[in-house]
Amino acid sequence: MKFRNFKMVDYVIYGRGCFNQLGEIIDPRRKQGAPMIFLVDHFFEGKPLADRLPLQGNDKTIFVDVTYEPKTSYVDKIANQLKEEFGSVSGIIGIGGGSAMDLAKAISLMMTNPGSSADYQGWDLVKVPGVYKVGIPTLSGTGAEVSRTTVLTGPTRKLGMNSDFTPFDQIVLDPELTAGAPVNQRFYTGMDCYIHCIESLQGTYLNEFSKSYGEKALELCQKVFVHKDGWDEENDDLLMMASYAGGMSIAYSQVGVAHAVSYGLSYLLGTKHGIGNCIVFDKLEEYYPEGVKEFKYMVEKNKVDIPQGLTKGLSDADFGTMINVSLGMKPLWENALGKDWEKIMTREKLRALYEKL
Ligand code: NAD
Ligand code: ZN
Repeated sequence: MKFRNFKMVDYVIYGRGCFNQLGEIIDPRRKQGAPMIFLVDHFFEGKPLADRLPLQGNDKTIFVDVTYEPKTSYVDKIANQLKEEFGSVSGIIGIGGGSAMDLAKAISLMMTNPGSSADYQGWDLVKVPGVYKVGIPTLSGTGAEVSRTTVLTGPTRKLGMNSDFTPFDQIVLDPELTAGAPVNQRFYTGMDCYIHCIESLQGTYLNEFSKSYGEKALELCQKVFVHKDGWDEENDDLLMMASYAGGMSIAYSQVGVAHAVSYGLSYLLGTKHGIGNCIVFDKLEEYYPEGVKEFKYMVEKNKVDIPQGLTKGLSDADFGTMINVSLGMKPLWENALGKDWEKIMTREKLRALYEKL
């Protein structure tokens, strides 16, 4: 057995209002003449948060478009523009949901690594550290703040830049920043965390390390979405820590069926990660009976909509594409169903599952 020796985030600050310390945190990382680049989710353009950035000298704010999940072409475009405009930069500060944080990680890496980000989609292909990078979540659930990947859609595949150079140097966990996220979005991203926990805890890769974090994250998600009524500040605190712990749990295990199937959906139809996982998980009674039962309860209690009938009318070729993408996620299937997963999850069985979505 070969154990994973994983790289973690270097510095973590947590607490309501800790965003105010961003300026003093990044100051020692400033290099003469090289700006800090604030990569901010476009949702915050014209909002109060945009006026709270600790800008100095030639620092630059870029509002990133996260209408679609990050593409390698978008990463390359921003990195090339920055290189042309400044030569080098002191750091990249990503502020937003999983999409903005992933963009920040990828752009930091592409400031120093040659070629296109598409060349690095895979495992351990990145050879040079990127520039200093900071992640600041404004939505809780993906665990992108702690993970060693950045999920990108490239010309031929949807795959992360997984490497030891990918994790942030610093994360700023300020639950105040997630206040006011729309109910449906908050639920979908929160459920990403819930699903990470179920898939990790029910997986064959499970060990005590993953279990400890996964159980804690699950408990926090349940507090927020099952046990409490309405939404309050405490929920933002709890969910931010759930996301962190959920991310730590999968760092040493893997996700499972919902993620593997949802990747196919997202590749073909562009369905976003959080909502896609919900659409799939809703139909996974066979694999995660208790989790799915509780999920349906949370959907009802929190009055959110899970879209239905997405794959109605798709062609055989379309189903084939989704099945190929999904079955390509081998570690996810092996974690979910064991070494013999290929005998269990046949193309016919997967097609029947896609037809239910
Ligand atoms: P997101 O980042 O795509 O954002 C969803 C929407 O919420 C956007 O419209 C955004 O503008 C808006 N938004 C963000 N913060 C807000 C706030 N405080 N108030 C109001 N609106 C706000 O959503 P997400 O679910 O956080 O992230 C999904 C992305 O994360 C996908 O691209 C997925 O591939 C990626 N992901 C990465 C990892 C990883 O380990 N790197 C893990 C899971 C998911
Ligand atoms: Zn996920």
